[in-house]
Amino acid sequence: MQLFETIVKHGEHEEVVICHNKDAGLKAIIAIHNTALGPALGGTRMWNYQSDEDALVDVLRLSKGMTYKAAASGLNLGGGKAVIIGDPKTQKNEALFRAFGQYVQSLNGRYITAEDVGTTVKDMEYVYAETRWVTGISKSLGGSGDPSPFTAHGVYMGIKASVKEKHKSDSLKGMRVAVQGLGNVGFHLVEELIREGAEVTVSDIDADKCKKVEKQFNVKVVSPDQILAADCDVLAPCALGAIFNDQTIPKLKTKIIAGGANNQLAEARHGQALKELGVLYAPDYVINAGGLMNVFVELEKYSPERALQKTETIYESILAIYEIAKKEDIPTNVAADRIAERRINQIGKLKQKHTGFNPRTFGTLKVDGR
Ligand code: NAD
Repeated sequence: MQLFETIVKHGEHEEVVICHNKDAGLKAIIAIHNTALGPALGGTRMWNYQSDEDALVDVLRLSKGMTYKAAASGLNLGGGKAVIIGDPKTQKNEALFRAFGQYVQSLNGRYITAEDVGTTVKDMEYVYAETRWVTGISKSLGGSGDPSPFTAHGVYMGIKASVKEKHKSDSLKGMRVAVQGLGNVGFHLVEELIREGAEVTVSDIDADKCKKVEKQFNVKVVSPDQILAADCDVLAPCALGAIFNDQTIPKLKTKIIAGGANNQLAEARHGQALKELGVLYAPDYVINAGGLMNVFVELEKYSPERALQKTETIYESILAIYEIAKKEDIPTNVAADRIAERRINQIGKLKQKHTGFNPRTFGTLKVDGR
């Protein structure tokens, strides 16, 4: 593998840590992309990667994404991520996560971890046995628990901002909203939409989830191949990524896309394609930042009220992105990137000037009670 070539190709990362503990069977990579705004926060993914190169590319890409997400959301956090190479179904054990925790500890707060795809709150409790630099742990240990209701609430606020932008009023009463995916985020989102009087259409590849939601709320269920082209005012993707591509975009009937799924655009150029069709797109990493805001509050001193308050700032953040997109005549995904980059440059410089901030010595953030 051309290690440095791969790293340089995927952005200017501050630090990439290769973690290996033979006895514990640990092979992991921690990538710290940028700490100009604060310590790098991002979850630990456990995945059976085809090759070490695939794992490296994934962690570089994901950590850079976290820098942009935190910056555009107005959080004083940088971007980082970790991947553990292995099968999450068969290769997990206490020693593996504790060995990983020792690597996180060795970074002394420059990187803060959390759960992600393939890892659970229980796994993070093993990590927590070795380091305080872990968040999103269970409520019984003083953590904030499941972030999904906060992610869903942020998406709901982003939908209201988008409706305001298109229709001048942000009321969702009578608005036709189509929700793809009824998992942790989708379910809570449907609950909030119904509460405000929206007409909700849903879909999930898991028929049991559809039945559960249909039983609980007054919703219309459609098949998974119909939901993206549903005739609606707002389409809220809350399942997988890369769903807006050359095949799906021409079939869209919605004029607003605002949902919680990560990496919704197959490629950045699809943001331009949506703009040309007059579809307002709420950039995914901004509208789905409620979960990140929740764990950020956990790092200070957890209060659900503060987490909720922070999540509600997504409304203004989304409107600010639409404003810049209009002013500069650019797609909204590009506007979000510009806002993030400007904040990293301006605030990052300010911190250096006023506090002598040096990413190398960062680590003063207090994790309450630990
Ligand atoms: P989840 O796994 O609980 O739910 C995803 C749901 O989508 C599942 O019910 C699955 O059956 C369904 N699904 C998959 N493919 C589908 C398809 N083609 N059509 C319809 N349904 C389909 O995941 P989640 O935690 O609810 O997260 C949803 C999305 O939001 C993901 O993209 C995730 O990365 C993103 N996200 C989640 C959080 C969070 O706090 N959970 C935070 C930020 C971003």
